Amino acid sequence: MMTEMLDCDAVMRQLWDYLDGELTPDREEAVRAHLVVCNRCHPQHDFEQSFLRALSASRREHSRPDAIKARVLATLRADGFAA
Ligand SMILES: [Zn+2]
Repeated sequence: MMTEMLDCDAVMRQLWDYLDGELTPDREEAVRAHLVVCNRCHPQHDFEQSFLRALSASRREHSRPDAIKARVLATLRADGFAA
């Protein structure tokens, strides 16, 4: 195995930074390698990715907080998450 193997806790701690693209390339690769093989972390990754996408879409609209929250929840539901 070429990349460092992370445990689930380590991946969870870095997941937001990973999704924001703020990890170093080595760390990013280690997290990605873990997510590919780990059934426990993958759903969490999908959820947070959808959440961030909804959030950034809302930011662009400069909506009121209530509208942003509603849109985030709607996007999560559209992606199959019970929110
Ligand atoms: Zn894991």
